[in-house]
This record gives sequence, C-alpha cells and structure tokens, in this order.
Amino acid sequence: MDLFEYQARNLFAKHGVPVLPGAVARTADEARAIATQLGGQVVVKAQVKTGGRGKAGGVRLAADPAEAASHAAAILGMDIKGHRVHQVLVTAASEIAEEYYLSFLLDRANRTFMAMASREGGVEIEQVAVERPEALALVPINPLTGVDQDIAREVLNQGGFPAEVIEAAVDVVTALWRVFVAEDATLVEVNPLVRTPDGTVLALDGKVTLDDNAEFRQPGHAELVDSDTTDPLERAARERDLNYVKLDGEIGIIGNGAGLVMSTLDVVAYAGEAHGGVRPANFLDIGGGASAEVMANGLEIILLDPAVRSVLVNVFGGITACDEVARGIVAAFELLASRGEQVTRPLVVRLDGNNAELGRQILAAAALPGVEQVDTMDGAARRVAELAALAGV
Ligand code: GDP
Ligand code: MN
Repeated sequence: MDLFEYQARNLFAKHGVPVLPGAVARTADEARAIATQLGGQVVVKAQVKTGGRGKAGGVRLAADPAEAASHAAAILGMDIKGHRVHQVLVTAASEIAEEYYLSFLLDRANRTFMAMASREGGVEIEQVAVERPEALALVPINPLTGVDQDIAREVLNQGGFPAEVIEAAVDVVTALWRVFVAEDATLVEVNPLVRTPDGTVLALDGKVTLDDNAEFRQPGHAELVDSDTTDPLERAARERDLNYVKLDGEIGIIGNGAGLVMSTLDVVAYAGEAHGGVRPANFLDIGGGASAEVMANGLEIILLDPAVRSVLVNVFGGITACDEVARGIVAAFELLASRGEQVTRPLVVRLDGNNAELGRQILAAAALPGVEQVDTMDGAARRVAELAALAGV
C-alpha cells in the first residue's frame, strides 16, 4: 500500500525523522485555520499518490493564511496525473540551502535491501538515474545488521553529500531506517531531504510503501487505507475477503490461482481484439478451495460491476476438484437467487484438470440459464469475448 505524503510524514515524526509542523485540510477554510496556527509562511501541498506534484502546480508557497486558503481552493479538486486531490497538507515553509535524495527500498533482483543516495535531490530521481547514474549511489543493506551510524555515513558518503551535511544527516538516515523496519515498508523515500541555511537537515517530502504481507502484524496500518479513492468494488471485494482488482474492460473474470487468472486476462484480451477490442473487467482469484460461498461472493462482486457484459469462469481443478467447483457454481446461483439477485449476464465456464468430466456433467445437468461450457481456455476466451461484443450492440 502506498501512503500519502502526510501519512509518511506522520510515520517519520513517530520514529524521529525531523519534519516541519503541519496538518491536513479538506477545505480552504481548514487550510486557513492551520496556516493561522502555524504562523508565518506555509506550503500548501496536494495529497495525491503520485510524484511531480510541484511541477503540476500542486505545491505552493503562501505568505499568509489568506493566501494559504486561496492556494488550497485552487489545489483541492485538481487532477494530477489522473489523481483527484481531496486533501492538502499545510506545513510551515522551510528555507532551502540544498536539496538531496535518500531512500531505502526492497531490491528484489538482488534479494536484499538497498539504500539510494544522491546529493542531487529535488528533481526526479529517475531522470538522475538515467542521465547521470554516477550521481546516484546504490548501496546494498544487509537486512540482518541494518543501518547503524557507520553505515549511514557510508551511504551519505557514496551519495556525494558534503562532509558537513553528513554529520547532520547521519541520525536522520538511521531514523529513516527505523521507519523502514518498524513499519514493514518496502520503500521509504525522501526527495528532497534538505539542508536549511542554518545547517539543519529535514525531510521535506516523503513517500512510503508498506508491505501488505505484513498486515497481520501491523494492526495500526488499517487506518491508513484511503477510502476516498479505493474503488467501491474493490472495497466490497475486500470485505468479502476476495482477491479482486478492478480493470476497465467488459468481461468479468473468475479463476482459481493467481497465475491462471493472470494468463486468463492475457488470453481474453487477445481474443477480445477480434471482437471490437473488448477486454477483461477485473482480476479475481478465488483461490484453491473454491466453496460455493466463495463462488457466490465472486459472482456477486463481478455482477455488481455495471461494465461487465459477460463472465468467464476459468478453473483448473487441483486439490479442489472440478466437480466441487461445478457444485459451487450451481450453489452460487441458488445462493444469489436467495439473496434476491439474478445472474443477468451470460457465463462461459471452462473446467479442466482434476475430475473435469464429472464437473462438466454436473453443470450440464443443472442447465443454469445463460451458462455455457467450453472445454478449452482459448475457446472459452473467444466465446466470452464474442458474447461481450454481442451484448454491447
Ligand atoms: P513533489 O513535486 O511531488 O516531489 O513534491 P515535493 O514535496 O518534493 O515539493 C516539490 C518542490 O517544492 C521541492 O523540491 C522544493 O523545491 C519545493 N518545496 C517544498 N516544500 C518547500 C518549502 O517548505 N520551502 C521551499 N522553499 N520550497 C519547498
Ligand atoms: Mn518530492
């Protein structure tokens, strides 16, 4: 889960990374009130989960509370790279002598953690990495020993930080490492890390990605989930413990196993090209043990999506055999009917693998309205695409 800057900033403060005082506003009046309380110059910053806010006009300096209010009014509601601004962070403004870059991240390729450091911060780091790779230090971090003051010094050194800044920044770097470890993050990035004219080192921006696999031991992270922008279908799916991701096509997809579902998306997208470019409407993995209830919940979520014109159920029987899945589909129809819901869109089912023959017989015998069976994945993809195209005319 990616966090908003203000949430990252709160985690920074919690672990001793120096940040400037500030608070979040949802209206211009709230922004004015925060600016009044802070006194002096403030910065009004769009809270969206994307970079380049500064360039897009989403970061503005204000001399007084009135200007903070007018900046907030201009920024709230803005669209920055497809992200709508619902909140602004109002912080005390800082004077900047120099801007640097520092991050910790999970380096999947090398199966370790890594620090990235550069004395050329403030700009997009991807650009530095491409144009002047020598200005960006990549330092592997041993996950067992982590980052102490010596390693922090080494990281800053390799990043080319000026000597006097290194001493002031060492404790900031170890504190950022504490954020990374204690919060189970896969990314902690500060751009810019600044030196003020009086030599203080501050985190002026923050980007944090939390490791969702650590959810079970981070109960406090639940409240960081953003309800403004979470897709309502994804929220409903989450409530039902379903592994669902909304996509923008027309064909509902249900499968068992993430790998199978992902390849189903590809095959369906490919088949859709011959049918006016219809595409998958979602990713939904109902997992290994697909009970009737899970199947019913899955169908329910997919049918809640008004964009869906046809549905493909693609199951490869393994531990859960196809006859159980077939009974699950039949039971799902009954369960949905008992909830007063009808399966109003055509369903293509492809069963293969363990007990496929029996599964197909069960489904055929049930003669569910709008349900067709196709034995191959490619054939099923073509048929479901065709049905989606037909429903669209
Ligand atoms: P981003 O564009 O989304 O990365 O947003 P940032 O928070 O990094 O802000 C962009 C730029 O605005 C920074 O690189 C700074 O140059 C400038 N900026 C942000 N906060 C302040 C501040 O308190 N004072 C000054 N003078 N500039 C700031
Ligand atoms: Mn930034």
